[in-house]
Parts: sequence; C-alpha cells; structure tokens
Amino acid sequence: MPRYFTDELLRRLRNDIAWPMLLKELDWPHKVRLGQLAFVCPRCREYRSAVNPRTNLGRCFWCDTNFNPIEFTMAVQEWDFVTAVHYLKALLVRGPSRSAAP
Ligand SMILES: [Zn+2]
Repeated sequence: MPRYFTDELLRRLRNDIAWPMLLKELDWPHKVRLGQLAFVCPRCREYRSAVNPRTNLGRCFWCDTNFNPIEFTMAVQEWDFVTAVHYLKALLVRGPSRSAAP
C-alpha cells in the first residue's frame, strides 16, 4: 500500500489536534462535564465519553472505543483515512476557522 503521509504528520495529527477545536470544527455535540470534555460517540450515539488530555484520545465508555482525532473524524464524517488526514492537515496548518484571517 502506498504511503501518502509521513509518520511525523500522522503523529502531529494524533497528538496536536486539540479536541475542543476539532469538535467545534466538525460541529459535533460535546460538553464539559465534571471538568472533562465529553462528546456524543459517533459509533453508539451515547454520551458516556471523555477526552484524555494526556494521550489526546477520546474514549467512549459505553462501547469501549478509543478515538484519536483521525479516527474520530473518519467516524463522524464517514470519510476514509486519506480524506480525514487531508482535512486535519489543513486544520493543523490554518487553525480553527473562527480565528482564520479573512
Ligand atoms: Zn460508543
């Protein structure tokens, strides 16, 4: 299988994409609960989730699924890996749309 992206880019997307920004950009339901960021699980639609700031992984405790930002974007948008990586790469470069230059 051809390699489209460098390991460094994929590592940055997994580690450096901030979940609050990602959830806003995807316009996906989320809230802060007991100091933890929770989101609707794109797999089971439950709200029993949390983002671990240390690992930058979102976890659904209901269906036992971990999401990194790439996996989460794929699940929410029903995109393939390549499409999700292109989207997140643009997000990483330009930052959130609300603070983008005109
Ligand atoms: Zn779930």
